[in-house]
Amino acid sequence: MTVATTLEALQCAACKELTAPPRLMCSACGRRELNPVALSGRGTLYSYTTIRVPPARFQGRAPYRVAVVELTEGIRMTGRLEGAEGEEVALGTPVTFDHAGEDGIVFRVIPGNRATAGGD
Ligand SMILES: [Zn+2]
Repeated sequence: MTVATTLEALQCAACKELTAPPRLMCSACGRRELNPVALSGRGTLYSYTTIRVPPARFQGRAPYRVAVVELTEGIRMTGRLEGAEGEEVALGTPVTFDHAGEDGIVFRVIPGNRATAGGD
C-alpha cells in the first residue's frame, strides 16, 4: 500500500483553478487538463460528523470522525479526523494533513491550538 505524506489537489492547466480530486474536469472552465499540485496541508475544520456504524471495510474502527477541512488554498477536502477523540472540536479549529493511504485522507487536530467553542 502506498502512503502519501503530501496532500495534493488538481490544478487546471488553463485557468489555474484548484479542485479536490477525484475530478475529471475543471469546475471553473470545464477543461480536462488537470495536474496534481502539492498543498500546504494546513486548514481549518469546516464541519465534521462522527461515524458510529461504518461501512464494512472500516468495521472495527468506529466510532471515527469524518471532517470537511477548508484548506488555506481555498478548497475543501473530506477526510478522517484524528487527534481529539472523545472531545468536542470547535469548527474553525486548525487541522493539518497527516497522511493519505488505503483508508483515504487523514487530517489531525493541531494540539493546543483549538478554536474556542462557538467561535465563528
Ligand atoms: Zn479551468
